[in-house]
Amino acid sequence: MKPTQQNQFDKTAFQTSVKKHLGATYATTIEKASSRAWYLAMGRALAEITTFDMLETEQDTRIRNAKSVNYLSLEFLIGRLTGNNLISMGLYEQINDAMNELGQSLTDLLEEERDPSLGNGGLGRLAACYMDSLAAQEYPTVGYGLHYEYGLFKQSFEKGHQKETPDAWCGVEGYPWEVARPELAQQIGFYGHVEVYQDEGRERRRWVPGMSVKAMPWDLPIVGYQSETVYPLRLWECRAIAPFSLESFNNGNYFEAQHALIDAGNITKVLYPNDNHEKGKTLRLMQQYFHSAASVRDILRRHEEVGHSLESLPEYETIQLNDTHPTIAIPELMRILIDEKDLEWAEAWAICTKTFAYTNHTLLPEALETWSESLIQRLFPRHMEIIYQINHLFLQEVRAKWPGDVAKQQKLSIIQEGFHRMVRMANLCVVGAYAVNGVAALHSQLVKRDLFPEFNELYPGRLQNVTNGITPRRWLKFCNPGLSQLITDKIGDEWPAKLDQLEAISQYANDAEFQQQFMAVKKANKQRLADWVKTNMDIELDANAIFDVQIKRLHEYKRQHLNMLHILSLYHRLITDPDFDMAPRVVIFAAKAAPGYHLAKQIIYALNMIAEKVNNDPRVGNKLKVVFMPDYRVSLAEIIIPAADVSEQISTAGKEASGTGNMKMALNGALTIGTMDGANVEIREEVGDDNIYIFGLDVDEVEQTRVAYNPYDYYNADPLLKASLDLLLGDEFTPGEPGKLRATYDSLLDGGDPYLVLADFASYVQAHEDMDKQYRDVSGWAKKAILNTALVGKFSSDRSIRDYVNNIWKLESVKR
Ligand SMILES: *Cc1c(COP(=O)(O)O)cnc(C)c1O
Repeated sequence: MKPTQQNQFDKTAFQTSVKKHLGATYATTIEKASSRAWYLAMGRALAEITTFDMLETEQDTRIRNAKSVNYLSLEFLIGRLTGNNLISMGLYEQINDAMNELGQSLTDLLEEERDPSLGNGGLGRLAACYMDSLAAQEYPTVGYGLHYEYGLFKQSFEKGHQKETPDAWCGVEGYPWEVARPELAQQIGFYGHVEVYQDEGRERRRWVPGMSVKAMPWDLPIVGYQSETVYPLRLWECRAIAPFSLESFNNGNYFEAQHALIDAGNITKVLYPNDNHEKGKTLRLMQQYFHSAASVRDILRRHEEVGHSLESLPEYETIQLNDTHPTIAIPELMRILIDEKDLEWAEAWAICTKTFAYTNHTLLPEALETWSESLIQRLFPRHMEIIYQINHLFLQEVRAKWPGDVAKQQKLSIIQEGFHRMVRMANLCVVGAYAVNGVAALHSQLVKRDLFPEFNELYPGRLQNVTNGITPRRWLKFCNPGLSQLITDKIGDEWPAKLDQLEAISQYANDAEFQQQFMAVKKANKQRLADWVKTNMDIELDANAIFDVQIKRLHEYKRQHLNMLHILSLYHRLITDPDFDMAPRVVIFAAKAAPGYHLAKQIIYALNMIAEKVNNDPRVGNKLKVVFMPDYRVSLAEIIIPAADVSEQISTAGKEASGTGNMKMALNGALTIGTMDGANVEIREEVGDDNIYIFGLDVDEVEQTRVAYNPYDYYNADPLLKASLDLLLGDEFTPGEPGKLRATYDSLLDGGDPYLVLADFASYVQAHEDMDKQYRDVSGWAKKAILNTALVGKFSSDRSIRDYVNNIWKLESVKR
């Protein structure tokens, strides 16, 4: 192992640096500084170290001459950096010490950090885990994203309803970990027209934008675990170009000139809060292009600075598109190569199609991006020409493969015909990329079978699988220090970088002493969560109860309302059946709903009202508690996940591409209750049938059931289901106001129950009953929990990244 920071750490110099920042950067004194000022000054002092390491990594000639991966994503849900970076730098103990001497508690200071919530959910969190694993394994990389001024909204509840407030994650003082790179700024155009001109007898075309803005990069350090390699996460911020409009200024029209500033600031003002749902808004497309164009130019700058030829781009750079959001990077690279670098179409296309790879994240039709041709035409007239030409040549291939088959052409065309012609971004990606991957084995199969069967025939081998993963540094070592220590005591401390080693823990699954220690850690983590809930929500929880957890974005396909029906069934049985016996249970939710997603917000409201009643109903006693924790985000997940006994992964089969929350909880010793969907299938393969609760229809059964599905058949046939649903009609949970919770009821019955909640209800209840019984066998449960931790090493994002490296990117690590 390379020498780490640990060996070189100079405590006194670090303390001096903290004190310097307190005064020079935050204009306060040791005597007067608030906790926040201490956290900021400490962050700046640490960032000094990582910035130097980042610049050294950037200048390393071996890295400059190696192949790198450029991870393009509109979202990076990185969570707090300070604690995690301390672990990667190997400095946690030393900094704890150093700050103690200054009279500060490190754990308190870490709580001062606001989460950078630059993502909606799983997709953005995946990008963050992948950056961590790329740096940890020293694969040359740059992450490219957007520097939103406002991240995902903050959530609170008012009388049970979700309320959104803006999240100014940088605060007024700025985020201590980031560093501006003004020398790397880019100019980005929009609108305008295409000019045709003659160049040495040849007709050439060029785009003359109607307006331009500046892309200012901010670098966040991604610190490789136990190495001095630091790669950048480069986030582009939109700024007006100064002087923004000389003409307006000269005319004395100062305010009109200011307008340009305001408009430009808008492009990266706020993250769009929709998860798995596309809304074709102009500003969103502008964000996408702004991100793609700035990133592609930065990649070409790096490539050309070293002196490499354009033809060799694919040998040195690969560009991974995280979903279709950065698809416009493909025509943008074509435009630069042809219009600016004077390459022929065929040369440019050969480069592009060896450079881009695309990750598909969903099969949900409402999430597959299409953009109106007229909007693209207006914003990016030259790109639209290039898309037509790509499509023209592609359709020739289709005709050659399936002569005379017009239906095939229509289905595969990048342009969807109709009254409003639309550009299908996923089709453009599959045509323009050398590899396309789904995110779990089942999902990738369905991409081949249902979404792109013809593409699979046309381009054999292009469609692949890379099962998602999570970084064990954040999602075990950092968030669960108790369990981490216990593991290290048994198998040594290499597991955070080699998660497969956890398998050795399975030899202790039957060891009574280890079982007792493992469950003692779980209990302590549950108590830590209970304390949080008591402090922040004033609800009393018993750490001996089953902690049954569903935390993820609120979406019908994720079926929080199936969980709700189960709670209602337990409540119904508790108050009507004196013989009903259940282990005490706490059902924990955390979820944000997109602000425009009405039913999702109604489900949150219903759960909050149900919680209010159930938690205070003397007939229930302490058997059942329901807690909806506000403002789900990475730092909240870090408290909840180590405390979970049961992990709810109950999406309708075929709808959840992979899931990663499922992996985080299994790694922390929770048992999954889940459908045969996404990565649940692979978790079951790893942990075995005895250590997971699988229920419900599988993908094929879902398809068959849909043919003649009538939710009333289930409602009328199952008295427990009927009683549970009917509770939503009265005023049980909204005293004096019957019917206030009927939105969910209506969607599940008259609304046709599009996600087959009622079809899976009975099987779900049965799985919970089995689980409840087995929980009471303390030793049996401990064994299952231990085996979950021991057997999910596969789901390290280190493994996912190695899959990408070996099967798609084909690049080498560079050890520093
Ligand atoms: C892991 C994670 C997700 C993804 O959870 P799923 O259950 O896979 O949907 C979403 N949000 C946050 C904050 C996460 O940490």
